[in-house]
Amino acid sequence: MTFVAETDHKPLIAIIKKNLSEMSPQIQRLIMKLQRFDFELIYTPGKYIVLADALFRAPQHCEPHNESSTERDVNLHVNLVSETLPVSDMKSKWIAVETAKDKVLQQVIKYMNTGWPKGLCQQFYHIQAELSVVNGLLLRKSRIVIPQSLRQDMLKRIHKGHLGTEKCKRRTRTAIYWPGMNADIDHMVLNCPTCLKHHDKQPKEPMILADLPAQPWQRVGTDLFHLDGKNYLLVIDLSNYPEIALLPTMTAACVIKHLRSIFARHGIPQIVCSDNGPCFHCKEFQTFAETYDFQHVTISPLYAQSNGKAEKGVHIVKRLLKKAKDSNADPYLAPLSYRASPLEHGMSTAELLMRRKLRTTLPYIAGHKQSRCLKQKQERLMRRQKEYFDKSAQALKPLSRHDTVRIGDTNNWNITATVLDEVSPRSYTVRTEDGQILRRNHRGLLKTQGTLQEQLGERGPETSAKKSSY
Ligand SMILES: [Zn+2]
Repeated sequence: MTFVAETDHKPLIAIIKKNLSEMSPQIQRLIMKLQRFDFELIYTPGKYIVLADALFRAPQHCEPHNESSTERDVNLHVNLVSETLPVSDMKSKWIAVETAKDKVLQQVIKYMNTGWPKGLCQQFYHIQAELSVVNGLLLRKSRIVIPQSLRQDMLKRIHKGHLGTEKCKRRTRTAIYWPGMNADIDHMVLNCPTCLKHHDKQPKEPMILADLPAQPWQRVGTDLFHLDGKNYLLVIDLSNYPEIALLPTMTAACVIKHLRSIFARHGIPQIVCSDNGPCFHCKEFQTFAETYDFQHVTISPLYAQSNGKAEKGVHIVKRLLKKAKDSNADPYLAPLSYRASPLEHGMSTAELLMRRKLRTTLPYIAGHKQSRCLKQKQERLMRRQKEYFDKSAQALKPLSRHDTVRIGDTNNWNITATVLDEVSPRSYTVRTEDGQILRRNHRGLLKTQGTLQEQLGERGPETSAKKSSY
């Protein structure tokens, strides 16, 4: 039989619509008892309910100090729930003992019974509908609220096996709770020495599209590479035109000599990018840059992709030379055919740089094929590459001056430093604890909140004092 029940207690309407697992055990049992009735609950203001008040106030026929059957039933259910809590009997007694000593939790339990004064125990105020007390344990839904004195111990248990923050949080979601627990987990994992030691590299960041230089050879990338026992110098510009030189020795003087020769043919670029290798990061090269009047831009170590053009060029040229060697082909013709082959936008790297086609061993028809919208085509191509690259990239939150970070050199995040400045996009200067100034890409810096000891100190004397009782 379907019937309509009226109530003047509006919150009840929302409560009975909730999932059983989201209710406190007491309410769970009451709702379960009601489930055998098929009824609709509606809200009617008290003044319109005439009969209910009379029924409500009718005395219950039971012995004083004796439980009614409903109370008995609810208590039985609550005990059953407490037995199925994911803790051992001993542990739940231990938590109950600490709960009894916890001033805040005792206050909360008091408010649950006597009514909640506004503005007090705010952290629990908004979840009061989900709270209940079972055998001295405070529960939020079916999660045990952990008293302050046991939280550090629980954190250690949560982080056993050194799982990451997400997995740690997932482990607690059905078992335990305290206000600010997620932030505490974040902090613990971020500062765990073992986890830091094995922290992966940070994710690669979305590609920054460099402005296309107005002219070819305005900005070039340069790199050294080693192949079959020989060393080479590579210079490449935005048109992808590679210049390669065999280096008899790996000294700055030798590198500079070959760069001078290349610049004599193509002109001096405005910007030369390189890594921080000894041939580039030295007084000699600095003097060379001053004399030849170009800007020398170095990239952060370990993040060679900032010098992406040269990095990619090395890869291409190495492959060309290897293939030529394997097939006993002329090692000079291989780079020539690369320079003369049309790229995706239809022009070859040589055409982009020299405004003419290079004659190769393939028959061709001489003449100019100058694309007016070449720059647009190049830009479209770069955007497409960026789109592809960014699919597996993730932007990192920018760092601010004075942020405390850990440095991920050789995959070991155990050096702490302070951020001084962002010198170029995603590249920062930092000062280590022993005063060293370093420059690092953002991927090599992991923001942290200082050491665990510092953090405990910052939280005030209350937490620090309790620490001794863990
Ligand atoms: Zn860990």
